[in-house]
Amino acid sequence: MPEPSDTPLMIIGAGLGGALMACYLAKAGYRVSVYERRPDPRVQGFVGGRSINLALSTRGITALQEVGLAEKVLDQAIPMHGRMMHDTEGDLAFQSYSANPQDAIHSVDRGQLNLTLLNAADAHDNVSFHFDHRCLNIDPAKPSASFEFVSKGEFVEADARVIIGADGAFSAVRSRLQREDRFNYSQQYLEHGYKELVIPPAAEIPGFSGKDFDGFAMDPNALHIWPRGGYMMIALPNQDRTFTCTCFWPFRGATGFEAIKTEHDIEPFFQKHFPDAVQLMPTLRETYMGNPTSSLVTVRCFPWHHKDKIVLLGDAAHAIVPFFGQGMNAAFEDCRVLNEYITQYAPQWDIVLETFTMKRKANADAIADMALANFIEMRDSVASPMFRLRKKLDNTLHRWMPNTFVPLYNMVSFSNIPYAEARARAEGQNRLLLAAAATIIAIVLLLVIVGIVALL
Ligand SMILES: Cc1cc2nc3c(=O)[nH]c(=O)nc-3n(C[C@H](O)[C@H](O)[C@H](O)COP(=O)(O)OP(=O)(O)OC[C@H]3O[C@@H](n4cnc5c(N)ncnc54)[C@H](O)[C@@H]3O)c2cc1C
Repeated sequence: MPEPSDTPLMIIGAGLGGALMACYLAKAGYRVSVYERRPDPRVQGFVGGRSINLALSTRGITALQEVGLAEKVLDQAIPMHGRMMHDTEGDLAFQSYSANPQDAIHSVDRGQLNLTLLNAADAHDNVSFHFDHRCLNIDPAKPSASFEFVSKGEFVEADARVIIGADGAFSAVRSRLQREDRFNYSQQYLEHGYKELVIPPAAEIPGFSGKDFDGFAMDPNALHIWPRGGYMMIALPNQDRTFTCTCFWPFRGATGFEAIKTEHDIEPFFQKHFPDAVQLMPTLRETYMGNPTSSLVTVRCFPWHHKDKIVLLGDAAHAIVPFFGQGMNAAFEDCRVLNEYITQYAPQWDIVLETFTMKRKANADAIADMALANFIEMRDSVASPMFRLRKKLDNTLHRWMPNTFVPLYNMVSFSNIPYAEARARAEGQNRLLLAAAATIIAIVLLLVIVGIVALL
């Protein structure tokens, strides 16, 4: 139950996690002040930011359901039921994500989703938004935070009952906690970066001769992958019938961003490595040159809280690489779980925050590891016949024993099983499969030996 206190809960960062947390707290009746570095996107339009679209899956949807927004968000989303692999000859192979045809991940527009969350939180009288306020520092003892009101060049300070740091991978709140005793922190950059490109609607591609999917130049109900070993490109559909492509390439080397030195290198590079895609990208040169090349980082820290005063969630607590499509989903799950402990234990904030850290940390570590491992799967293994066979076996076993055998991808994307538990269960299943395969091989060998002996 909310305390009869004048001091509000403060959320720093009104990105995806912060805006959803504001919805949860507003709904529960807390007074909430949200501070965001960027201008109000409802006034100024979305400024900058990362990836235009994201894959939303069960964990995210579950949290959105709890605040009454799932239906609205899914109405604006495009379901993707599997991966469509493009080889260097332009040949396609579809790989379903699940034996259950209902299972899908959903391509959502980051800006639109953020607006939906902001508007939903703002509809409550007990929430106030302070855009254009960049957090400079926090005082963990009070707690309070200081901000630069950027467009006015003014400095503002505000007190809070609890500060929730939802200010992303380069969190100012976390930076301050790093100066506290026994706060662990690590960050690791990937050797790969990313750059976003675009495939326009079929009608806007000169000489388009492929299959038109209701205005899309490719099948919109799949996540497209061009796996090339050490590097890859992917594409997710948008409501406006475009695709956002993301190149995940190493910064260095012959297949990396440094291989493209001038704009004249772009088309030959794509012709060589992504020949079927280049035909669908009439604005390739301009978008390639115009869009930034960004880096990818894994951030781990512990604890995520400070006494009964400060807590981190989302990327501020655990930035992960995007190869399992789980960063936002994990941030939304953080909100759901934090809300659960608030409902259970508040106003004992020390218990709320400590329980949250202790329960979530192992799960965040597990998805961080699985996201790194999935990069190798996406850019490399998906193209191998052995991998495809294994996927088919997984799906067949899942169809036969839907509750007993659940492939890792399904547990991560289509369930709310805690990440660490999903990983442990998948490892157990792998061991069983290996043992079964070894037993079958041993029996076959035994039969062959018995047969040979009988013949002699
Ligand atoms: C290329 C790419 C693709 C991705 N694809 C997926 C996907 O398919 N599915 C998925 O689930 N996840 C995906 N993610 C991850 C997802 O984007 C993040 O995990 C998610 O945005 C985290 O939400 P957040 O609220 O913690 O952080 P953010 O969304 O980054 O929000 C942080 C907010 O804090 C504000 N802020 C920062 N500093 C300050 C400050 N000092 N003061 C005040 N405000 C501040 C920022 O302006 C921002 O609004 C992808 C990420 C990348 C890079």
